[in-house]
Amino acid sequence: MELGLRDKVAVITGGSSGIGLAVARGLAAEGVHLVLGARDADRLEKEAAAVEGVRVLPVACDVATVEGAAALAAAAEEAFGGADILINNAGAGSNETIMEAPDEKWQVYWDLHVMAAVRLARGLVPGMRRRGGGVILHNASICAVQPLWYEPIYNVTKAALMMFSKTLSTEVVADNIRVNCVNAGLVLTPDWVKTAKQLTVGSGGDWQGHLDEVAREHAPIRRFATPEEVADFIVFLCSERASYSVGSTYAIDGGMLKTV
Ligand code: NDP
Repeated sequence: MELGLRDKVAVITGGSSGIGLAVARGLAAEGVHLVLGARDADRLEKEAAAVEGVRVLPVACDVATVEGAAALAAAAEEAFGGADILINNAGAGSNETIMEAPDEKWQVYWDLHVMAAVRLARGLVPGMRRRGGGVILHNASICAVQPLWYEPIYNVTKAALMMFSKTLSTEVVADNIRVNCVNAGLVLTPDWVKTAKQLTVGSGGDWQGHLDEVAREHAPIRRFATPEEVADFIVFLCSERASYSVGSTYAIDGGMLKTV
């Protein structure tokens, strides 16, 4: 299937690890030039250098801040004259109770999951309009619609991101900019492995067994997705082959969502 992505330019937040890195590699394989944003400059530069065949610009920035989002958008503008694709992917899980979490913690996740997307839309949509259109994808989570009870702040801010995606889609569709959202289930990224190792260190270290148990409990498919399985779907949504997909949220969750 010809995806029609060659020589497009994509900005990917959180492009140095996990799903974001897999999306970066997937888009690069289709000939898309990349602007990758993340905080840890060393890891970002190492991963950016390993992507071959396209131009890759690593931008060390914190997209949860006004300055970081502005720097990322400005870098795309300066190097490529804007972007055709924006993947709002940077994010992190949380662990708290509503009764105990302070306002400051809510603010951190609101800035990371919602305001980064708001500010990057404002920063990059004008360039997409100039270029004749574009694609914006939000990587929310199954937790936006089916909460995991230990992470209320994550659930709430990802739900807000999903609604932002829907609302933005209507505002910019007339500019030939398609906006969609993806809700992944369990995706085997380095953080899951790290946590599983920490949880099992005192009980024999069977971290793979722990992850298998998590998958069996939550996902009818009984395994985690690879980051590449999610990335392939996102790359398709970025492409001309998905030209009628607007304002939707797509589950990629191995059957984890319990509702229709
Ligand atoms: P990883 O922890 O593997 O990667 C997160 C990426 O985001 C890293 O590149 C990280 O780099 C970057 N990042 C985090 N905070 C910021 C920030 N403030 N500014 C800029 N970059 C930032 O995560 P995953 O691949 O697992 O997750 C990616 C997205 O997918 C997240 O939004 C997550 O909520 C979502 N998701 C993940 C699922 C899973 O099971 N893994 C399931 C459903 C959704 P650095 O730390 O250097 O900034």
